[in-house]
Amino acid sequence: MNTSTSAASPVQARRLLIVGPPGAGKGTQAVRLAEELSIPAISTGDIFRANVSGETELGVLAKSYMDKGEYVPDSVTNDMVRSRLGEADAQDGFLLDGYPRTLDQVEALDGMLTELGTTLDAVLLLVVETEEVVGRLVERGKQQGRSDDTEETIRHRLEVYSEQTAPLIDVYEKRDLVRRVDGMAAIDDVTTSLREALAGR
Ligand code: AMP
Repeated sequence: MNTSTSAASPVQARRLLIVGPPGAGKGTQAVRLAEELSIPAISTGDIFRANVSGETELGVLAKSYMDKGEYVPDSVTNDMVRSRLGEADAQDGFLLDGYPRTLDQVEALDGMLTELGTTLDAVLLLVVETEEVVGRLVERGKQQGRSDDTEETIRHRLEVYSEQTAPLIDVYEKRDLVRRVDGMAAIDDVTTSLREALAGR
């Protein structure tokens, strides 16, 4: 029996979601946490953007939705995630960022995990104030030139989030998976809180 590895690593959960509204800092935190846990951070937004840049068929389709601040259709998104979760680096864990975003996607993810013979360990929820995230996203739009970071599209994305994605939190609450973390704190403090939230399980 070897317990030294687990004793050295306070964070055990390895199949994780990070959720929160656009601009909550999911991407930044996902990359940090995933690196610490040696699991891939899988961002559906990043995969779509890579396809847009590569002008693939998927990218052309996704862009038409992304530019309007709408969700890419579930069937397309689910197929993409199923294929990504089947890759070798995701077999020992993953941190999904930006997926699932609809109830249909929750069901699809449940099915994928059943097929893989596994379950989720935790859902990390970044809690932020709406006006703060609008400010952050407007700033990101200026710095990174993301075509969906204009104020009008941002407001629409936030509406879509509260209508279609916020209800997912209840679903995962009922499964006792949700760990809430204050996303308004400084970046390093948020990372620390996320680490603690996972270790506290
Ligand atoms: P993000 O970088 O996570 O904010 O995603 C940027 C955009 O990609 C979203 O506004 C959607 O258009 C699209 N997208 C990302 N993830 C999903 C998803 N799970 N379901 C549908 N559309 C998504």
